[in-house]
Amino acid sequence: MLELIEQTARTKSIVFDVPGWGRHRAGQHVDVRLTAEDGYQAQRSYSIASAPEDRHIELTVERIDDGEVSPYLADELLAGDEIELRGPIGGYFAWEEAPGMPVFLVGGGSGIVPLRAMLRHHRATDSAVPVRLLYSARSLDDVIYRDELTAADAGDVRLTLTRRQPAGWTGYGRRVDRELVAEVCWPAPERPLVYVCGPTGFVEAVAGALVSLGHEAARIRTERFGPTGGETP
Ligand SMILES: Cc1cc2nc3c(=O)[nH]c(=O)nc-3n(C[C@H](O)[C@H](O)[C@H](O)COP(=O)(O)OP(=O)(O)OC[C@H]3O[C@@H](n4cnc5c(N)ncnc54)[C@H](O)[C@@H]3O)c2cc1C
Repeated sequence: MLELIEQTARTKSIVFDVPGWGRHRAGQHVDVRLTAEDGYQAQRSYSIASAPEDRHIELTVERIDDGEVSPYLADELLAGDEIELRGPIGGYFAWEEAPGMPVFLVGGGSGIVPLRAMLRHHRATDSAVPVRLLYSARSLDDVIYRDELTAADAGDVRLTLTRRQPAGWTGYGRRVDRELVAEVCWPAPERPLVYVCGPTGFVEAVAGALVSLGHEAARIRTERFGPTGGETP
């Protein structure tokens, strides 16, 4: 492991050099396995935050305070440590350009991670497909990849801050509900391809809103990170 980057107070990116890594697809994940000295093992999935074109593999882990694996990865890992990865895994929640289909990405909290890989892939390939991100975080300080997502050349990125908005904030300041989805997403007849990722409750609410607005369920891909009913970012 090469480098640790603090993204927010609760979130760290881990940058790896993985010998013999085959190319991954934007949106795929890896399984991380930790083995204690007594042989006890714990394994969790983490999305790949880097694009297939990036030089290194990057994961971004949010610390869940009472969690088994994430506090270790976010707080105790040191640059130079080695951890065991298996992957890349998953094909359903992966994006590759399909001509003419706009792509709507909706992320809540750490659900931004695979969507960020898709945005970077979109940029690295100079894709002409329109892509738009709606990202929900509690406050500006909780926005993962904040500099990248708020840069002048970030593309079509819309942020919503659900708990605290800084003075003069011009983005959204509410939860991602049906009304907000209707405002930000392309209308159903344009048949956007949609990727939704975040805590289970968030993903279900957004997917439900999209279906109620007439979007075909088959065009909505979802990835759930947290436990059932997890708090909405
Ligand atoms: C395909 C996939 C990709 C994932 N990618 C990422 C990623 O890129 N970054 C990332 O940080 N996580 C990601 N996750 C979640 C990750 O796998 C772990 O579930 C998470 O890090 C918690 O593990 P833990 O061992 O710390 O907590 P555990 O010991 O498993 O759980 C401790 C407690 O926290 C609750 N909990 C578990 N997960 C969450 C959560 N996300 N939010 C709130 N409460 C939770 C549990 O219900 C339990 O009560 C992904 C999950 C999947 C399935």
